[in-house]
Formats: sequence, structure tokens, C-alpha cells
Amino acid sequence: MNKKECPSCAMMIDDSEKVCPICGYEFPVQNKFYVALAIFLIILFVLYFIL
Ligand SMILES: [Zn+2]
Repeated sequence: MNKKECPSCAMMIDDSEKVCPICGYEFPVQNKFYVALAIFLIILFVLYFIL
């Protein structure tokens, strides 16, 4: 399991945690899913004009 450092309390917590279990700090949502979705939509958009 990967660990990440909480920027609020500097504790090492599990990378999958979205909220720090120690201080309650909420990590910003930079979900890979949204990045993949954005790339997919751009590809779809480009293909629409090529075909
Ligand atoms: Zn914390």
C-alpha cells in the first residue's frame, strides 16, 4: 500500500484515503477517472471531425 503525507498534520496515511483519519483534512479531488474521461472526449471530438 502506498502512503502519502497529510499536508495539514504531516502524518503518513494510506494513499487511498480521501479524508485524513487523524485531522479530517480533505484531499483535493484530482481523480484519474476524470482525466481519462477528458482525454476520451477529446479523442471522440477529434474523430468526429476526421471521419
Ligand atoms: Zn491530517
